Amino acid sequence: MRFFQDLFRLFYPNLCVNCDRNLFSSEKILCGHCKNDLPILQNNDNITELFYGRINVEQVVSFLSYHKNNSTQKLIHTLKYKGREDIGEFLGDWFVKEFNLLSRFSDIDVILPVPLHNKKLKTRGYNQLTSFGQKVSKELNIEFCSTKFLKVSATKTQTFKNRFDRFSNHSSFKLSDPSYFKNKHILLIDDVITTGATLISCCEELLKVEGVKISIATLALTKKI
Ligand SMILES: [Zn+2]
Repeated sequence: MRFFQDLFRLFYPNLCVNCDRNLFSSEKILCGHCKNDLPILQNNDNITELFYGRINVEQVVSFLSYHKNNSTQKLIHTLKYKGREDIGEFLGDWFVKEFNLLSRFSDIDVILPVPLHNKKLKTRGYNQLTSFGQKVSKELNIEFCSTKFLKVSATKTQTFKNRFDRFSNHSSFKLSDPSYFKNKHILLIDDVITTGATLISCCEELLKVEGVKISIATLALTKKI
């Protein structure tokens, strides 16, 4: 059944991603109802606090509230697993305007997505952050860099980690050209902040470079925090 639904969407993509209503020609991705109901985060202050004492970050901004079965989850799931990269562009555009990111991030030098491991990139075919990052990059006129920050080890659950892995301090992330980032203010982007662990591990690697400052922008934040 799922297969036929997906096939149908492929040929008739003009349905609301959240509720399957037909879209008017003026609408994109979401119908008017779902667009109005999208849970845009009103207060971002406590997100930066989440990182206090854990890692040194300048600003952290998230666009939407994410929880099980809400429209944000549906949007991000469709962006991530259904090949709908246009959702990233749509949300990126809205995020920039809604949160006035142009003035908020006026001193950013480069936009950097949390990288996917090569294996995952091959299976999925794309990094779900690329269309979002490229849209923000275009709107803010800041370079988007997807080639110099890499994920070098695939994520394993604790159960499958061997003794060596568990006690070693090897980072899962690596910079291929650290000197490029020297003295730069990086805007690190991700889809959802859950525990913040992935972002912190990225920041730890990036902050090894002299003079680096980091801000973070994500499409969503889970309510668990
Ligand atoms: Zn809808």
